[in-house]
Amino acid sequence: AKNSGREGFAFYDHAQTEHARQRIELIAGLRHALENEELRVHYQPLCRLDDGQMVGVEALVRWQHPQRGLVPPGEFIPVAEDSGMINAIDAWVLEHACRQMVAWRAAGSPLQFVAVNISSRLFSRGELDQRVARVLAQTGLPADCLELEVTESAVMDDPDQAQALLERLRSLGVRLAIDDFGTGYSSLARLKRLPVQKLKLDQSFVAGLPDDKDDRAITRAVIALAHSMEMNVLAEGIERVEQQDYLRELGCDYAQGYFIGRPVPADALKLT
Ligand code: C2E
Ligand code: CA
Ligand code: CA
Ligand code: CA
Repeated sequence: AKNSGREGFAFYDHAQTEHARQRIELIAGLRHALENEELRVHYQPLCRLDDGQMVGVEALVRWQHPQRGLVPPGEFIPVAEDSGMINAIDAWVLEHACRQMVAWRAAGSPLQFVAVNISSRLFSRGELDQRVARVLAQTGLPADCLELEVTESAVMDDPDQAQALLERLRSLGVRLAIDDFGTGYSSLARLKRLPVQKLKLDQSFVAGLPDDKDDRAITRAVIALAHSMEMNVLAEGIERVEQQDYLRELGCDYAQGYFIGRPVPADALKLT
């Protein structure tokens, strides 16, 4: 504000300092959280739409803060991304999720895979394939029991580099999914060449189903596009039965959302 005068500027400065202080505290807190095992992984069901079978789960990180309680990732992932801490967090989640999947398999669970989020920052570093290979070797998890979720924007940021890395990951045998699809301006020529098996339709398009005409058109188009490239589609953020019914009718393959199951700790997941 131009006319804010002395007090206005003073206030603005103070607010900025306060913001910077909170950020530094958050980074220090996260470092402490990593060292002291305050992070948790929750798992959300991923189900086939035709028969309702839970085929996989998505690993979602939380921070069990000693004072603030369970902190959702939206409150610390952005700061972790700019500070570089995200690499350590993603590595921790990856290893944890693989170990959990090994335990589920040993207990006879029919779950096919665990899906893990990879931040654009870790993705752009390029040596992700070596890290993944190491974790698979250390945990003994078969590669096709791990799915990596990379956002559409991370891939389209530097498509050549992304393509090469995805190909190296694919040759390890892991499954690959594009997350938040529809929000990142994919080049279709590029998309067609990516060694990816699944598109995750962003929940912002599912929210308006089945009433919103634009969301219906986008959903239909994404399903047709994916199937024409021999990819599967998972719809995120299903909260109501009408959304699920509509998506099933359109031929969407997989579903995720509060209507089907919320993210929960591993021991609270009902494995069928
Ligand atoms: P995402 O990868 O798109 O994950 C889906 C988010 O949607 C999760 O939020 C999930 O709890 C939420 N969700 C699932 N079903 C519904 C629904 O029916 N309605 C609504 N409104 N939301 C639903 P969450 O767990 O808060 O995670 C938010 C984001 O944080 C994730 O979005 C992902 O981008 C990031 N994130 C979470 N865990 C990790 C991680 O380990 N590493 C990285 N790099 N990012 C992570
Ligand atoms: Ca995801
Ligand atoms: Ca998503
Ligand atoms: Ca998202």
